Amino acid sequence: MTQQPDCLFCGIVAGTVPSTQVDEDERTLTFMDINPGTDGHALVIPKAHARDLYDIDPGDLAACSVTAQRVAGRAVRQLGADGVNLINCAGEAAWQTVFHFHLHVVPRYRDDQARDSLRLPWTPTPGDPARIAAAADLLRAAG
Ligand code: AMP
Ligand code: ZN
Repeated sequence: MTQQPDCLFCGIVAGTVPSTQVDEDERTLTFMDINPGTDGHALVIPKAHARDLYDIDPGDLAACSVTAQRVAGRAVRQLGADGVNLINCAGEAAWQTVFHFHLHVVPRYRDDQARDSLRLPWTPTPGDPARIAAAADLLRAAG
């Protein structure tokens, strides 16, 4: 298993950094976030080090997604969540602070300020059609 010496989450995989684990399989580990956004906020990581979304092995990414689905289901059934956000921050500009890939599994609770005070971080507003189309053209093109 590829580990990186100074990586915090590799330390969690190795057991040298403490964590509150909730799930483990061959490729992934899931533990509680120490700064939870809501009740039950957990992080799914690949056991093999990958810096971010661009770096992760596609098989590990698929495994993390399947684990996130399993943990999200438990959040609904066992914590009584009304919904779940899966969040990945890829790069500093996208709020990534720990550079070992992780999926945030964030249970959501309707009308329960004590467990969930999150707000949508943007204001949905109709975009300029020309800018939307221009971005779509670039996204369609092979990079
Ligand atoms: P991100 O900003 O997407 O890179 O998320 C990193 C997350 O890791 C943050 O939500 C932190 O609260 C969380 N975190 C940092 N250190 C630890 C740790 N030792 N155990 C559990 N979660 C951690
Ligand atoms: Zn790592």
